[in-house]
Amino acid sequence: MKVLKFGGTSVGSAERIHSVAHLISDGLPKIVVLSAMSGTTNTLVEISDCLYRNKKQEALNVIQNLEVNYYIVVTELFKTEAYIHKGKEFIQTIFTYLRSFVNKDFYPLQEKAVLAQGEIISTTLMHYYLEECGIANTLISALEYMRIDKDCEPDYFYIQQNLRRELAKPGTHELIITQGFICRNAYGEIDNLKRGGSDYSAALIGASIKAEEIQIWTDIDGFHNNDPRIVENTKAIRHLSFEEAAELAYFGAKILHPSSIQPAKKENIPVRLKNTLCPQDEGTLITQNSPAKNIKAVAAKSGITAIKIKSSNMLLAYGFLRKVFEVFEAWKTPIDMIATSEVAVSLTIDCTDHLENILHDLEKYGTIEVDRNMAIVCIVGDFAAGKTGLGAQVLNALANVPLRMISYGGSEHNISVLVQEEDKKKAMTDLSHKLLDAQE
Ligand code: ADP
Ligand code: ASP
Ligand code: MG
Repeated sequence: MKVLKFGGTSVGSAERIHSVAHLISDGLPKIVVLSAMSGTTNTLVEISDCLYRNKKQEALNVIQNLEVNYYIVVTELFKTEAYIHKGKEFIQTIFTYLRSFVNKDFYPLQEKAVLAQGEIISTTLMHYYLEECGIANTLISALEYMRIDKDCEPDYFYIQQNLRRELAKPGTHELIITQGFICRNAYGEIDNLKRGGSDYSAALIGASIKAEEIQIWTDIDGFHNNDPRIVENTKAIRHLSFEEAAELAYFGAKILHPSSIQPAKKENIPVRLKNTLCPQDEGTLITQNSPAKNIKAVAAKSGITAIKIKSSNMLLAYGFLRKVFEVFEAWKTPIDMIATSEVAVSLTIDCTDHLENILHDLEKYGTIEVDRNMAIVCIVGDFAAGKTGLGAQVLNALANVPLRMISYGGSEHNISVLVQEEDKKKAMTDLSHKLLDAQE
Protein backbone atom coordinates (compact mmCIF):
# COMPACT_ATOMS: atom_id res chain seq x y z
CA MET A 1 0.00 0.00 0.00
CA LYS A 2 1.24 3.50 -0.83
CA VAL A 3 0.74 6.72 1.09
CA LEU A 4 0.16 9.82 -1.06
CA LYS A 5 0.25 13.31 0.45
CA PHE A 6 -1.11 16.30 -1.43
CA GLY A 7 -0.07 19.76 -0.27
CA GLY A 8 -2.04 23.00 -0.09
CA THR A 9 -1.63 24.09 -3.72
CA SER A 10 -2.40 20.57 -4.94
CA VAL A 11 -5.89 20.88 -3.39
CA GLY A 12 -6.03 24.69 -3.65
CA SER A 13 -9.17 25.02 -5.83
CA ALA A 14 -12.17 22.96 -6.97
CA GLU A 15 -10.30 22.29 -10.22
CA ARG A 16 -7.23 21.02 -8.36
CA ILE A 17 -9.39 18.78 -6.14
CA HIS A 18 -10.91 17.32 -9.34
CA SER A 19 -7.39 16.54 -10.65
CA VAL A 20 -6.28 14.93 -7.39
CA ALA A 21 -9.49 12.88 -7.26
CA HIS A 22 -8.70 11.64 -10.75
CA LEU A 23 -5.09 10.81 -9.78
CA ILE A 24 -6.04 8.76 -6.74
CA SER A 25 -8.90 6.85 -8.37
CA ASP A 26 -6.86 4.21 -10.19
CA GLY A 27 -8.40 1.41 -8.14
CA LEU A 28 -5.21 0.65 -6.18
CA PRO A 29 -5.38 0.67 -2.37
CA LYS A 30 -3.84 3.78 -0.86
CA ILE A 31 -3.92 6.23 2.01
CA VAL A 32 -4.33 9.82 0.82
CA VAL A 33 -3.18 12.51 3.22
CA LEU A 34 -4.39 16.05 2.50
CA SER A 35 -3.24 19.47 3.66
CA ALA A 36 -5.64 22.36 4.00
CA MET A 37 -6.43 24.25 0.76
CA SER A 38 -3.63 26.78 0.20
CA GLY A 39 -4.02 29.96 2.22
CA THR A 40 -6.51 28.44 4.66
CA THR A 41 -4.06 27.70 7.51
CA ASN A 42 -2.61 31.21 7.18
CA THR A 43 -6.13 32.65 7.41
CA LEU A 44 -6.90 30.50 10.46
CA VAL A 45 -3.67 31.82 12.04
CA GLU A 46 -4.89 35.35 11.26
CA ILE A 47 -8.24 34.62 12.92
CA SER A 48 -6.42 33.28 15.98
CA ASP A 49 -4.20 36.38 16.13
CA CYS A 50 -7.32 38.59 16.10
CA LEU A 51 -8.85 36.51 18.90
CA TYR A 52 -5.67 36.68 21.02
CA ARG A 53 -5.80 40.47 20.65
CA ASN A 54 -9.55 40.44 21.41
CA LYS A 55 -10.33 42.03 18.02
CA LYS A 56 -13.69 40.31 17.73
CA GLN A 57 -15.12 42.18 14.77
CA GLU A 58 -11.90 41.78 12.80
CA ALA A 59 -11.98 38.03 13.51
CA LEU A 60 -15.62 37.83 12.39
CA ASN A 61 -14.79 39.64 9.14
CA VAL A 62 -11.95 37.26 8.31
CA ILE A 63 -14.15 34.25 9.18
CA GLN A 64 -16.91 35.64 6.93
CA ASN A 65 -14.57 36.09 3.94
CA LEU A 66 -13.14 32.60 4.30
CA GLU A 67 -16.64 31.13 4.56
CA VAL A 68 -17.78 32.91 1.38
CA ASN A 69 -14.74 31.50 -0.46
CA TYR A 70 -15.64 27.99 0.65
CA TYR A 71 -19.23 28.35 -0.59
CA ILE A 72 -17.77 29.22 -4.00
CA VAL A 73 -15.48 26.15 -3.85
CA VAL A 74 -18.48 23.97 -3.00
CA THR A 75 -20.54 25.22 -5.95
CA GLU A 76 -17.61 24.66 -8.32
CA LEU A 77 -16.64 21.30 -6.85
CA PHE A 78 -19.90 19.36 -6.92
CA LYS A 79 -22.09 18.57 -9.90
CA THR A 80 -25.38 17.67 -8.23
CA GLU A 81 -27.74 19.83 -6.17
CA ALA A 82 -27.75 17.16 -3.47
CA TYR A 83 -23.97 17.36 -2.96
CA ILE A 84 -23.86 21.16 -3.27
CA HIS A 85 -26.39 21.21 -0.45
CA LYS A 86 -24.45 18.64 1.58
CA GLY A 87 -21.19 20.58 1.06
CA LYS A 88 -22.78 23.89 2.08
CA GLU A 89 -24.30 22.38 5.20
CA PHE A 90 -20.90 21.01 6.19
CA ILE A 91 -19.16 24.38 5.60
CA GLN A 92 -21.85 26.07 7.66
CA THR A 93 -21.22 23.70 10.60
CA ILE A 94 -17.47 24.39 10.50
CA PHE A 95 -17.91 28.16 10.37
CA THR A 96 -20.54 28.16 13.14
CA TYR A 97 -17.94 26.33 15.22
CA LEU A 98 -15.25 28.90 14.29
CA ARG A 99 -17.59 31.75 15.28
CA SER A 100 -18.16 30.08 18.64
CA PHE A 101 -14.58 31.02 19.61
CA VAL A 102 -15.23 34.74 19.23
CA ASN A 103 -16.96 35.13 22.58
CA LYS A 104 -14.70 32.78 24.54
CA ASP A 105 -11.34 33.28 26.21
CA PHE A 106 -8.67 32.37 23.69
CA TYR A 107 -5.66 30.20 24.58
CA PRO A 108 -3.21 28.04 22.58
CA LEU A 109 -5.58 25.09 23.09
CA GLN A 110 -8.35 26.92 21.24
CA GLU A 111 -5.91 28.05 18.55
CA LYS A 112 -4.99 24.43 17.83
CA ALA A 113 -8.68 23.57 17.39
CA VAL A 114 -9.10 26.55 15.03
CA LEU A 115 -6.03 25.59 12.94
CA ALA A 116 -7.28 22.00 12.61
CA GLN A 117 -10.33 23.07 10.60
CA GLY A 118 -8.40 23.57 7.34
CA GLU A 119 -7.50 19.91 6.99
CA ILE A 120 -10.91 18.81 8.27
CA ILE A 121 -12.54 20.85 5.48
CA SER A 122 -10.26 19.70 2.63
CA THR A 123 -10.56 16.00 3.48
CA THR A 124 -14.33 16.12 3.96
CA LEU A 125 -14.80 17.92 0.63
CA MET A 126 -12.60 15.33 -1.11
CA HIS A 127 -14.51 12.49 0.56
CA TYR A 128 -17.86 13.90 -0.58
CA TYR A 129 -16.60 14.59 -4.08
CA LEU A 130 -15.33 11.03 -4.54
CA GLU A 131 -18.64 9.76 -3.17
CA GLU A 132 -20.52 11.94 -5.64
CA CYS A 133 -18.43 10.40 -8.45
CA GLY A 134 -19.30 6.92 -7.19
CA ILE A 135 -15.74 6.17 -6.00
CA ALA A 136 -15.81 4.15 -2.79
CA ASN A 137 -13.61 5.74 -0.13
CA THR A 138 -13.36 6.01 3.64
CA LEU A 139 -12.57 9.19 5.55
CA ILE A 140 -10.55 8.42 8.67
CA SER A 141 -10.02 11.24 11.15
CA ALA A 142 -6.36 11.74 12.05
CA LEU A 143 -7.58 12.69 15.52
CA GLU A 144 -8.40 8.99 16.02
CA TYR A 145 -4.81 7.80 15.58
CA MET A 146 -2.19 10.57 15.18
CA ARG A 147 -0.64 11.48 18.52
CA ILE A 148 2.35 13.26 20.04
CA ASP A 149 3.75 12.64 23.50
CA LYS A 150 4.68 15.03 26.35
CA ASP A 151 7.85 16.05 24.48
CA CYS A 152 5.84 16.71 21.30
CA GLU A 153 7.44 13.68 19.67
CA PRO A 154 5.27 11.20 17.74
CA ASP A 155 3.94 8.35 19.85
CA TYR A 156 4.81 5.60 17.37
CA PHE A 157 3.16 2.78 19.30
CA TYR A 158 -0.14 4.66 19.73
CA ILE A 159 -0.17 5.76 16.09
CA GLN A 160 0.46 2.27 14.78
CA GLN A 161 -2.07 0.53 17.04
CA ASN A 162 -4.83 3.05 16.45
CA LEU A 163 -4.30 3.49 12.73
CA ARG A 164 -4.34 -0.27 12.25
CA ARG A 165 -7.55 -0.52 14.27
CA GLU A 166 -9.17 2.19 12.12
CA LEU A 167 -8.06 0.50 8.90
CA ALA A 168 -9.37 -2.88 10.05
CA LYS A 169 -12.89 -1.60 10.83
CA PRO A 170 -15.54 -3.49 8.83
CA GLY A 171 -16.71 -1.60 5.76
CA THR A 172 -13.45 0.34 5.35
CA HIS A 173 -12.66 0.86 1.68
CA GLU A 174 -9.27 0.52 0.02
CA LEU A 175 -9.10 4.23 -0.75
CA ILE A 176 -8.54 6.07 2.52
CA ILE A 177 -8.68 9.84 2.92
CA THR A 178 -7.19 11.40 6.04
CA GLN A 179 -5.85 14.71 7.35
CA GLY A 180 -2.23 15.73 7.48
CA PHE A 181 -0.90 18.15 10.11
CA ILE A 182 -3.46 17.52 12.87
CA CYS A 183 -3.09 15.20 15.83
CA ARG A 184 -3.84 14.87 19.52
CA ASN A 185 -1.31 15.52 22.26
CA ALA A 186 -0.50 13.43 25.34
CA TYR A 187 -3.57 14.89 27.11
CA GLY A 188 -5.92 14.01 24.26
CA GLU A 189 -6.29 17.64 23.16
CA ILE A 190 -6.25 18.72 19.52
CA ASP A 191 -2.73 19.66 18.49
CA ASN A 192 -0.62 19.72 15.31
CA LEU A 193 2.74 18.72 13.87
CA LYS A 194 3.79 22.35 13.25
CA ARG A 195 3.52 24.31 10.01
CA GLY A 196 4.12 22.20 6.92
CA GLY A 197 3.44 19.12 9.09
CA SER A 198 1.36 17.18 6.56
CA ASP A 199 4.56 15.75 5.08
CA TYR A 200 5.41 14.47 8.54
CA SER A 201 1.92 12.96 8.92
CA ALA A 202 2.37 11.09 5.64
CA ALA A 203 5.76 9.78 6.72
CA LEU A 204 4.45 8.68 10.13
CA ILE A 205 1.50 6.93 8.50
CA GLY A 206 3.82 5.29 5.95
CA ALA A 207 6.15 4.05 8.68
CA SER A 208 3.23 2.76 10.80
CA ILE A 209 1.77 0.60 8.05
CA LYS A 210 5.20 -0.18 6.54
CA ALA A 211 4.04 1.31 3.26
CA GLU A 212 5.57 0.36 -0.06
CA GLU A 213 6.24 4.05 -0.83
CA ILE A 214 5.49 7.51 0.55
CA GLN A 215 4.67 10.05 -2.15
CA ILE A 216 4.72 13.78 -1.48
CA TRP A 217 2.77 15.56 -4.23
CA THR A 218 3.42 19.28 -4.45
CA ASP A 219 3.66 22.23 -6.84
CA ILE A 220 7.19 21.71 -8.18
CA ASP A 221 8.94 18.98 -10.20
CA GLY A 222 11.02 17.61 -7.31
CA PHE A 223 13.72 18.51 -4.85
CA HIS A 224 15.77 21.33 -6.43
CA ASN A 225 19.50 21.84 -6.04
CA ASN A 226 18.93 25.25 -4.43
CA ASP A 227 15.98 27.21 -3.08
CA PRO A 228 13.91 28.28 -6.14
CA ARG A 229 12.34 31.09 -4.10
CA ILE A 230 15.76 32.71 -3.68
CA VAL A 231 18.02 31.57 -6.54
CA GLU A 232 17.19 31.52 -10.27
CA ASN A 233 17.63 28.52 -12.60
CA THR A 234 17.62 25.83 -9.93
CA LYS A 235 17.22 22.24 -11.16
CA ALA A 236 15.40 19.16 -9.88
CA ILE A 237 17.60 16.42 -8.42
CA ARG A 238 16.49 12.93 -9.45
CA HIS A 239 17.87 10.94 -6.53
CA LEU A 240 18.80 11.78 -2.93
CA SER A 241 19.67 9.63 0.07
CA PHE A 242 17.60 9.85 3.27
CA GLU A 243 20.48 11.60 5.01
CA GLU A 244 20.96 14.16 2.25
CA ALA A 245 17.25 14.93 2.08
CA ALA A 246 16.93 15.11 5.87
CA GLU A 247 19.86 17.52 6.08
CA LEU A 248 18.43 19.77 3.35
CA ALA A 249 14.93 19.71 4.85
CA TYR A 250 16.27 20.47 8.31
CA PHE A 251 18.33 23.33 6.94
CA GLY A 252 15.48 25.09 5.21
CA ALA A 253 14.36 23.29 2.02
CA LYS A 254 10.65 24.05 2.44
CA ILE A 255 9.59 21.27 0.09
CA LEU A 256 9.80 18.83 3.02
CA HIS A 257 8.94 19.27 6.69
CA PRO A 258 12.24 19.02 8.63
CA SER A 259 11.29 15.80 10.47
CA SER A 260 9.56 14.00 7.63
CA ILE A 261 12.47 11.84 6.46
CA GLN A 262 13.11 10.31 9.86
CA PRO A 263 10.14 7.86 9.95
CA ALA A 264 10.77 6.81 6.33
CA LYS A 265 14.45 6.19 7.06
CA LYS A 266 13.59 4.22 10.19
CA GLU A 267 11.52 1.75 8.15
CA ASN A 268 13.54 2.11 4.93
CA ILE A 269 10.54 3.27 2.88
CA PRO A 270 11.27 5.14 -0.37
CA VAL A 271 9.96 8.70 -0.50
CA ARG A 272 9.02 10.10 -3.91
CA LEU A 273 8.42 13.79 -4.54
CA LYS A 274 5.98 14.40 -7.40
CA ASN A 275 4.49 17.39 -9.17
CA THR A 276 0.67 17.49 -9.10
CA LEU A 277 0.64 19.94 -11.98
CA CYS A 278 2.68 17.54 -14.12
CA PRO A 279 2.13 13.98 -12.81
CA GLN A 280 4.17 12.38 -15.62
CA ASP A 281 7.34 14.16 -14.42
CA GLU A 282 9.88 11.84 -12.86
CA GLY A 283 10.18 13.84 -9.61
CA THR A 284 12.77 13.01 -6.94
CA LEU A 285 13.32 9.63 -5.34
CA ILE A 286 14.72 9.48 -1.81
CA THR A 287 16.14 6.14 -0.64
CA GLN A 288 18.83 4.74 1.66
CA ASN A 289 21.63 5.36 -0.83
CA SER A 290 21.98 7.64 -3.81
CA PRO A 291 24.62 8.09 -6.51
CA ALA A 292 27.46 10.23 -5.16
CA LYS A 293 28.02 13.67 -6.67
CA ASN A 294 30.56 16.28 -5.56
CA ILE A 295 28.00 18.94 -4.70
CA LYS A 296 24.33 18.03 -4.80
CA ALA A 297 22.38 20.86 -3.29
CA VAL A 298 22.23 23.95 -1.13
CA ALA A 299 19.62 25.03 1.40
CA ALA A 300 19.45 27.77 3.99
CA LYS A 301 17.77 28.31 7.31
CA SER A 302 17.11 31.83 8.61
CA GLY A 303 16.35 33.08 12.10
CA ILE A 304 19.52 31.67 13.61
CA THR A 305 21.13 33.04 16.77
CA ALA A 306 24.85 32.47 17.39
CA ILE A 307 26.23 32.37 20.93
CA LYS A 308 29.94 32.56 21.72
CA ILE A 309 31.23 31.60 25.18
CA LYS A 310 34.80 32.79 25.78
CA SER A 311 36.64 31.42 28.75
CA SER A 312 40.26 31.01 29.70
CA ASN A 313 39.07 28.14 31.94
CA MET A 314 38.51 26.17 28.78
CA LEU A 315 42.22 25.92 28.12
CA LEU A 316 43.28 22.30 28.73
CA ALA A 317 40.12 21.71 30.79
CA TYR A 318 37.83 18.75 30.47
CA GLY A 319 34.12 18.87 31.28
CA PHE A 320 33.70 22.43 30.02
CA LEU A 321 31.64 21.52 26.97
CA ARG A 322 29.46 19.20 29.04
CA LYS A 323 28.54 22.08 31.33
CA VAL A 324 27.72 24.31 28.36
CA PHE A 325 25.60 21.62 26.69
CA GLU A 326 23.74 20.91 29.92
CA VAL A 327 22.46 24.48 29.92
CA PHE A 328 20.89 23.94 26.49
CA GLU A 329 19.53 20.57 27.55
CA ALA A 330 17.96 22.05 30.67
CA TRP A 331 16.15 24.63 28.51
CA LYS A 332 15.17 22.03 25.88
CA THR A 333 16.91 24.00 23.15
CA PRO A 334 18.59 22.07 20.33
CA ILE A 335 21.99 23.21 19.08
CA ASP A 336 22.49 23.23 15.30
CA MET A 337 26.13 24.15 14.62
CA ILE A 338 29.15 24.19 16.85
CA ALA A 339 32.78 25.37 16.52
CA THR A 340 35.40 25.26 19.24
CA SER A 341 38.85 26.73 19.86
CA GLU A 342 41.09 26.56 22.89
CA VAL A 343 39.47 29.59 24.48
CA ALA A 344 35.99 29.84 23.05
CA VAL A 345 33.05 27.83 21.83
CA SER A 346 30.51 29.17 19.32
CA LEU A 347 27.21 27.51 18.72
CA THR A 348 23.89 28.26 17.07
CA ILE A 349 20.25 27.79 17.98
CA ASP A 350 17.05 28.56 16.10
CA CYS A 351 14.62 28.44 19.00
CA THR A 352 15.06 31.53 21.16
CA ASP A 353 12.10 30.91 23.51
CA HIS A 354 14.50 30.50 26.46
CA LEU A 355 17.40 32.63 25.22
CA GLU A 356 17.45 34.96 28.23
CA ASN A 357 17.56 32.02 30.66
CA ILE A 358 20.25 30.28 28.63
CA LEU A 359 22.42 33.40 28.56
CA HIS A 360 21.94 33.88 32.28
CA ASP A 361 23.02 30.28 33.00
CA LEU A 362 26.01 30.50 30.64
CA GLU A 363 27.38 33.67 32.20
CA LYS A 364 29.03 31.74 35.00
CA TYR A 365 31.23 29.92 32.46
CA GLY A 366 32.68 32.94 30.65
CA THR A 367 32.02 36.04 28.58
CA ILE A 368 29.06 35.71 26.25
CA GLU A 369 28.53 37.28 22.83
CA VAL A 370 25.27 36.95 20.92
CA ASP A 371 24.71 37.51 17.18
CA ARG A 372 21.09 37.50 16.09
CA ASN A 373 19.61 37.43 12.62
CA MET A 374 22.04 34.92 11.18
CA ALA A 375 21.47 32.17 8.60
CA ILE A 376 22.95 28.71 8.16
CA VAL A 377 23.76 27.79 4.57
CA CYS A 378 24.04 24.04 4.18
CA ILE A 379 25.92 22.48 1.27
CA VAL A 380 25.18 18.80 0.66
CA GLY A 381 27.57 16.69 -1.37
CA ASP A 382 30.17 13.98 -1.15
CA PHE A 383 32.70 15.14 1.44
CA ALA A 384 34.05 11.68 2.23
CA ALA A 385 37.14 11.56 4.42
CA GLY A 386 40.37 11.61 2.42
CA LYS A 387 38.83 13.46 -0.51
CA THR A 388 40.78 16.56 -1.50
CA GLY A 389 39.80 19.88 -2.97
CA LEU A 390 36.05 19.98 -2.42
CA GLY A 391 36.15 21.91 0.86
CA ALA A 392 38.45 24.43 -0.80
CA GLN A 393 36.04 24.77 -3.74
CA VAL A 394 33.15 25.52 -1.39
CA LEU A 395 35.13 28.16 0.49
CA ASN A 396 36.39 29.63 -2.80
CA ALA A 397 32.84 29.96 -4.06
CA LEU A 398 32.07 31.85 -0.85
CA ALA A 399 35.18 34.05 -1.11
CA ASN A 400 33.11 37.27 -1.20
CA VAL A 401 30.77 36.38 1.64
CA PRO A 402 31.74 37.12 5.27
CA LEU A 403 31.62 33.82 7.17
CA ARG A 404 30.97 33.66 10.91
CA MET A 405 31.31 29.88 11.45
CA ILE A 406 32.14 26.80 9.39
CA SER A 407 31.20 23.21 10.17
CA TYR A 408 33.02 20.50 8.21
CA GLY A 409 33.43 16.83 9.00
CA GLY A 410 30.32 16.42 11.17
CA SER A 411 29.03 14.07 8.49
CA GLU A 412 30.45 12.95 5.16
CA HIS A 413 27.79 14.69 3.15
CA ASN A 414 27.55 18.19 4.49
CA ILE A 415 29.36 21.47 5.05
CA SER A 416 27.49 24.25 6.83
CA VAL A 417 28.47 27.88 7.08
CA LEU A 418 26.96 30.61 9.23
CA VAL A 419 26.43 34.00 7.58
CA GLN A 420 24.49 37.15 8.35
CA GLU A 421 20.93 37.05 7.04
CA GLU A 422 21.72 39.92 4.62
CA ASP A 423 24.49 37.79 3.03
CA LYS A 424 22.38 34.64 2.69
CA LYS A 425 21.13 35.28 -0.84
CA LYS A 426 24.62 36.09 -2.11
CA ALA A 427 26.04 32.95 -0.49
CA MET A 428 23.33 30.76 -2.05
CA THR A 429 23.62 32.41 -5.47
CA ASP A 430 27.42 32.21 -5.53
CA LEU A 431 27.27 28.53 -4.60
CA SER A 432 24.82 27.92 -7.46
CA HIS A 433 26.83 29.84 -10.05
CA LYS A 434 30.32 28.77 -9.05
CA LEU A 435 29.69 25.18 -7.99
CA LEU A 436 26.33 23.71 -9.00
CA ASP A 437 26.09 25.23 -12.50
CA ALA A 438 29.79 24.61 -13.17
CA GLN A 439 29.29 20.90 -12.42
CA GLU A 440 26.52 20.43 -15.00
P1 ADP B 1 2.99 22.00 -0.17
O1 ADP B 1 1.94 23.02 0.07
O2 ADP B 1 2.69 21.08 -1.31
O3 ADP B 1 3.42 21.29 1.08
P2 ADP B 1 5.31 23.72 0.06
O4 ADP B 1 5.05 25.14 -0.30
O5 ADP B 1 5.35 23.38 1.51
O6 ADP B 1 4.25 22.82 -0.72
O7 ADP B 1 6.67 23.18 -0.61
C1 ADP B 1 6.89 23.37 -1.98
C2 ADP B 1 7.68 24.64 -2.20
O8 ADP B 1 8.95 24.55 -1.55
C3 ADP B 1 8.06 24.90 -3.64
O9 ADP B 1 7.02 25.54 -4.33
C4 ADP B 1 9.31 25.78 -3.51
O10 ADP B 1 9.00 27.14 -3.61
C5 ADP B 1 9.79 25.55 -2.07
N1 ADP B 1 11.18 25.05 -2.01
C6 ADP B 1 12.14 25.52 -1.17
N2 ADP B 1 13.29 24.87 -1.34
C7 ADP B 1 13.07 23.94 -2.31
C8 ADP B 1 13.88 22.97 -2.94
N3 ADP B 1 15.16 22.79 -2.59
N4 ADP B 1 13.34 22.22 -3.91
C9 ADP B 1 12.05 22.38 -4.27
N5 ADP B 1 11.22 23.28 -3.70
C10 ADP B 1 11.71 24.06 -2.74
N1 ASP C 1 -1.86 23.19 6.47
C1 ASP C 1 -0.66 23.16 7.28
C2 ASP C 1 0.19 24.38 6.98
O1 ASP C 1 -0.17 25.19 6.15
C3 ASP C 1 0.11 21.89 7.11
C4 ASP C 1 0.70 21.65 5.74
O2 ASP C 1 0.30 22.30 4.78
O3 ASP C 1 1.54 20.75 5.62
O4 ASP C 1 1.20 24.54 7.60
MG1 MG D 1 4.66 21.83 2.70
